[in-house]
Order: sequence, then C-alpha cells, then structure tokens
Amino acid sequence: MDSLRHRPTAFHVTHWSDDPFSRGAYSTLLPGATPEHRRRLGEALGGKLVLAGEACNPIAPAMTHGAWNDGLRAADIAIENGVRRVLVIGAGFAGLAAARRLREAGIDCVVLEARDRIGGRVHSISLGPVRVDEGAAWLQHFDDNPLATFAQELGLSLRETDFGRPLAAAADGPVPDIDAAWEALRTGIDRALPLAEGVARYLDGCDEPTRRATRFALDANLILEACLPLKSLSVDALDEEGVGAGDRFLPQGYSQLVAHLAEGLDIRLNQPVSTIDWSGEQVQAGGESADFCVCTAPVGVLRDIHFTPPLPAAQQDALEHLGMGQLEKVVLQFEQRWWPVSPSGYLRWYDTPANFGEWLDLTDAVGTPTIAGLIAADALERVFVGRSDEEIAVVACEALQAWTDAVRNAHL
Ligand SMILES: Cc1cc2nc3c(=O)[nH]c(=O)nc-3n(C[C@H](O)[C@H](O)[C@H](O)COP(=O)(O)OP(=O)(O)OC[C@H]3O[C@@H](n4cnc5c(N)ncnc54)[C@H](O)[C@@H]3O)c2cc1C
Repeated sequence: MDSLRHRPTAFHVTHWSDDPFSRGAYSTLLPGATPEHRRRLGEALGGKLVLAGEACNPIAPAMTHGAWNDGLRAADIAIENGVRRVLVIGAGFAGLAAARRLREAGIDCVVLEARDRIGGRVHSISLGPVRVDEGAAWLQHFDDNPLATFAQELGLSLRETDFGRPLAAAADGPVPDIDAAWEALRTGIDRALPLAEGVARYLDGCDEPTRRATRFALDANLILEACLPLKSLSVDALDEEGVGAGDRFLPQGYSQLVAHLAEGLDIRLNQPVSTIDWSGEQVQAGGESADFCVCTAPVGVLRDIHFTPPLPAAQQDALEHLGMGQLEKVVLQFEQRWWPVSPSGYLRWYDTPANFGEWLDLTDAVGTPTIAGLIAADALERVFVGRSDEEIAVVACEALQAWTDAVRNAHL
C-alpha cells in the first residue's frame, strides 16, 4: 500500500469463484447453448422434483428477479401436483420465493440452507461506516421487477444508475463509439460459427480503428456480462440481457430485502445437502423427507449433488451447456474522492488486456468516498491468482489511478 498515491482507508475483495456454495457469480451459456437449455433444466421431474433459480430462467437469467420469478414457477409446479410438504434447497431469492408462495398456499415447507446465513449470492457487509454488497447490488429492469415493488413498499432508499452513460477512458487514446461497434458486431458476425471463431473472422474483416472499438465493446458488453472468455461462451451469449433498464442501487444494502422476504419462513441454516433421493414415494434430502423438492442450488454446485435416480438425460445435457461466469468486486474506500466524478456513477476503463473494466462510484449514494471495481473471466487469472487481498486491492488502486490519469490527460 505504501507505494500508492492514494491509500484506501478500507477495502474488500470478493471470492465468489472459490465459494463452495456458488462456484462463480452467475450462470452463463457455454458453447452450443441456447436459452432453451435454461428452460429444460427447470422442467418438472416425475411430479417430485424441480430445479430452479436464476440459471433456469430464460427471460431474466443471472439476475435476482429472474431467480425470484423462477422460485415462484417452481412452487406453482409443486402446488399443481397437490403436495402437502415440500423441501426447498437454498435460501437465495429463488428459494425464498418458492417457500413464501408455498406457505401462502398452506403447504408445509422447510428450507435447507448450506451457509450460516440466508441470501445466497446477495450479501451486504459493513465496510467502514457503510454497507456494501458483495454480490447483487442493483435491482435491474426496474419497471418489470417484482423485487423492486417490495423495495418500494418497504420504503427502502433507492438510487438510479444510468449504465448507458459511463464516464469512459481508454489506455491508448480517445474512446471510440463502443455502442456502434457492439451493434455492428452483433449483426455482422457469422452466427453459424463458434463464438471465438466468429469474432476472429469478423475482426479480420475490420480496419484497425474498428477492430480496436470492437475489442473494447466485447470486453465491456460481453466478457464483463457473461464473465467467461470468448472460447467458453455460446454465440447466444451475445443476446442475453444484462444491465441497463432503469437499474436501481440500494444504498443500505440488498440484504434488507432478503431479511424482509425471509420473515416467518422455516429456514434451517448450516444444512449442506449432498444427496437428493427422489426414487421413492417421498423425496429425501438433508435428513428430511417430503412429497416434493425444489432445488435452487446454483449450476456450479448442482454437479456436486448426488441425485438418486440421476437427473434425466435432458437435464444433464442442459447442465453441461450452462457454466458459472466468474466475476469479482474490489470495493475501495478513501478519505476523499480523488477520481473524476461520473454523473451516472458509472465508469468504464478500456485497457488491453482488460482488467478492472467497470467501476461503480458509490460515494454519492452511501455518503462516504467508496468505489467498486469489477473484474471478470480470464482477467481474474492475471490479477487474483497468487495475490493476497491486500495485493489485489493495490492492483485495483493502480488501475483506478491509471483511469483517473487518462481522463485528466484527455481533458488537458
Ligand atoms: C458479484 C455479483 C454481482 C451481481 N450483480 C447483480 C446485480 O446487480 N443485479 C442482479 O439482479 N443480480 C446480480 N447478480 C446475480 C444475482 O446475485 C443472482 O442471480 C441471484 O442472487 C441468484 O439467486 P438464486 O436464488 O438463484 O441463487 P443463490 O442466491 O445462489 O441461492 C442459492 C442458495 O442455495 C444454497 N446452497 C448451495 N448449495 C447448497 C447445498 N448443497 N445445500 C443447501 N443449500 C445450498 C446457497 O448457499 C444459496 O443460499 C450478481 C451476482 C454476483 C456474484
């Protein structure tokens, strides 16, 4: 830290990739996958079992409200089957949604949660005087988001972030028109080819400025959204929706919403489920039995759960086509805000190779100079591997400094 021009007063580094109960940040389409694989993964199995969660929602995958809606879908399947008792595996948004709907329908329901806390990939922590989110931080697609309705009813403080208007800088000169390059790529790429090959072919046909703009657009709009390198992604990953529809941030943390939605539910913590036996009349898991099981473990964890009988071929095939994107946050807090202010709170940094490509300035929302850098996919191998959290925070501070210098130089 001593070498830094601006030393943080506090920092926090996430490690979702190493977390045994998520094994990554959120689901993504592997080569050859389509959103149909998501739908298939969530099909009802034998009137006794259904997999649910963000990964099974083809409309809003990788988002909290997608998880929520999918939990409701799973509960409705159980209700249609006339069940009396249901086991819900996992107390993230999908599990909470399922358990609430089942309880409303008068069905006995117990939630088995592996961790010592609820919320799953939603977890607010204290950093200095403020709350920050390790996982989800924005309510996305605000107007169509049922969780947004809960947040408004509860009177939670909300702050809009316009992801369409970043304050951007590039390491090697002026920032090109990223949106135009992205749209040209999406319409011009040969979708019959595997993604990495299609991109390589497309770039071969571009002049140098277009190639540079397209590489930046891929880093910002695909790698930082789907969170795996090009060779590990499906062509359809170009079309899965990410941030950018009236998204709102919860300055006091997302966990407030989780706590509210869990009220009154029978949730058992520290109950990692390793086997689900759905061979008999009753489903057995975690020492409990019931008529039906809703399993919301993330796709990265599902592979480690032993199902008896094994999942049918269609679901196994769907699981093989879905991977976990790798995305981490480094949150830095300072005595003063020393980086340029983005009116939208959103900063983009185009570097080659890409490292901390996105920054969210939380200062105005939380009242203390705080900024979160996002880093994904193979950039994590370059920055995280072999470094302590403090060393990672130093690299993040240096990236923020480089971004700041680039913005200031551009305006000299
Ligand atoms: C860094 C990051 C940033 C994100 N940003 C956003 C954002 O801004 N907006 C947004 O909408 N979404 C965002 N997301 C995605 C969002 O957090 C997830 O899509 C959503 O929370 C998933 O909910 P879920 O219920 O499907 O899964 P989870 O939240 O993962 O819940 C599954 C639960 O199952 C438990 N579990 C796992 N294995 C077992 C087992 N064997 N036995 C028992 N329990 C088990 C887990 O502990 C967990 O509690 C982000 C995610 C990350 C990691």
